[in-house]
Amino acid sequence: MTELSIQTIGATKVVVPPDELNALKASLRGAACSPADSGYDEARTIWNAMIDRRPGLVVRCQGAADVMQAVALARKHGLALSVRGGGHNIAGSAVCEGGLLIDLSPMRWVTVDPSARRANVGPGATLADVDRETQAFGLALPTGINSTTGIAGLTLGGGFGWLTRKFGMTIDNLISADVVTAKGELLRASEKDNPDLFWAIRGGGGNFGIVTNFEFKLHPVGPQVLSGLVIHPFADAKNILTKYQPILANAPDELTCWAVMRKAPPLPFIPAAWHGKEVLILAMIWSGDMADGEKAMAELRGLGKPIVDVVSPHPFVGWQAAFDPLLTPGARNYWKSHDFERLDGAFLDKLIDAVKTLPGPECEIFIAHIGGAMSRVPAGDTAYPYRKAHFIMNVHTRWREASEDRGCIGWARELFQAAAPYALGSAYVNFMPDDESDRIEMVYGSNFKRLGEIKRKYDPDNLFRSNQNIKPA
Ligand SMILES: Cc1cc2nc3c(=O)[nH]c(=O)nc-3n(C[C@H](O)[C@H](O)[C@H](O)COP(=O)(O)OP(=O)(O)OC[C@H]3O[C@@H](n4cnc5c(N)ncnc54)[C@H](O)[C@@H]3O)c2cc1C
Repeated sequence: MTELSIQTIGATKVVVPPDELNALKASLRGAACSPADSGYDEARTIWNAMIDRRPGLVVRCQGAADVMQAVALARKHGLALSVRGGGHNIAGSAVCEGGLLIDLSPMRWVTVDPSARRANVGPGATLADVDRETQAFGLALPTGINSTTGIAGLTLGGGFGWLTRKFGMTIDNLISADVVTAKGELLRASEKDNPDLFWAIRGGGGNFGIVTNFEFKLHPVGPQVLSGLVIHPFADAKNILTKYQPILANAPDELTCWAVMRKAPPLPFIPAAWHGKEVLILAMIWSGDMADGEKAMAELRGLGKPIVDVVSPHPFVGWQAAFDPLLTPGARNYWKSHDFERLDGAFLDKLIDAVKTLPGPECEIFIAHIGGAMSRVPAGDTAYPYRKAHFIMNVHTRWREASEDRGCIGWARELFQAAAPYALGSAYVNFMPDDESDRIEMVYGSNFKRLGEIKRKYDPDNLFRSNQNIKPA
């Protein structure tokens, strides 16, 4: 390798000499890539096409030893550093401009111990990797709803999806994690080992170190789950969203129903006359016994006069990937998010007005249904603070051309502002874009102070700052 000019935390450049780069390369199981090398572009390309940054050096890690080497190089030279798991974060924090990118995507193992109902998962694994390996044994981990998302970033921010109301958040199922700290040491974090670090990484994001292995507990699920979509004309949206709330408020933990508002995509099971028209989609799953599910879902499925109802038994692995075709990488994306206890009538009016002015055919508003087991964990037990929300809205703006940036981002911000008076004030860090650093203290609420203190202990110089950053107290 020839010498490389790499950006430091102070935004100046430092020249790393060829001897040092060659020594690094020789010591890695993975690869060190400069901008001219193969693998460089693959590592720096992430889900959100708005992000087009060029790191000075990429270390594509194969194991904890590679991560320790990369952290040592960053510390020695004071390099700006970012960490990539699955590359899905909307804020694009996985890729830094000019600095050192630590790419964990090659570390994709998932090993399952079926008798102990446990899995060890590498930080490069996607949710699909976890689902496939665990479902081979009829087991599952509660994660998110898009199977190409990385397990690492999702877990460190909290993690919720179709199984959360039944089995808790992803962090509630974390038994231990191996963490490379800013000092370059590998520590075990669990209830027993470094419990403060274990508390902080369950919701505090990538602020405290680089996780090189996750150990999770698993639950029996499937292989078939009663699940699917019920699609309504948008004209009936207020009526349906008003009537579904008392049903959801009294629902068993096994029942989860997310609402999606968008223009109907041209999917084969949606009548062609509806393609491109605004619809309300209720996406639902019953994670318990199939016969009980038919009864439990009947009231929800009986609301209004749906255009189509495709709820039936589906393989759990397939249901986990049901939204993948609408969430492919390569589009420009901007998100805004709020937590809610209930969806007030006046708020629904604002939501409905916004859907009437959707800026593009791929834009949508998701309202996740949470609660259940997630809400029974006390707020101080993990860094994830607000467990009492019942809904999380994600304004998911998605488009193709840079010329549309202003209009699409402006639409999302406008709805976000209009919804704020009805929201709880908390938010999910994993749904926040890169322009919301002023929201961090409020988002972590009563856990913020302790997070700052733990940050000071494990990363006093804020080496891990390319994230929704918690500064050392
Ligand atoms: C289409 C889509 C659907 C989604 N749906 C859901 C959902 O249903 N539920 C949900 O909970 N979330 C969901 N998310 C949000 C998701 O949780 C975040 O985007 C998350 O950051 C993705 O993790 P990643 O590893 O892919 O991210 P990356 O972009 O690779 O990483 C994000 C950040 O996490 C940190 N990080 C990553 N890996 C490590 C590590 N091993 N050690 C330390 N820090 C690390 C770094 O700070 C990094 O900047 C969705 C995202 C997308 C794009």
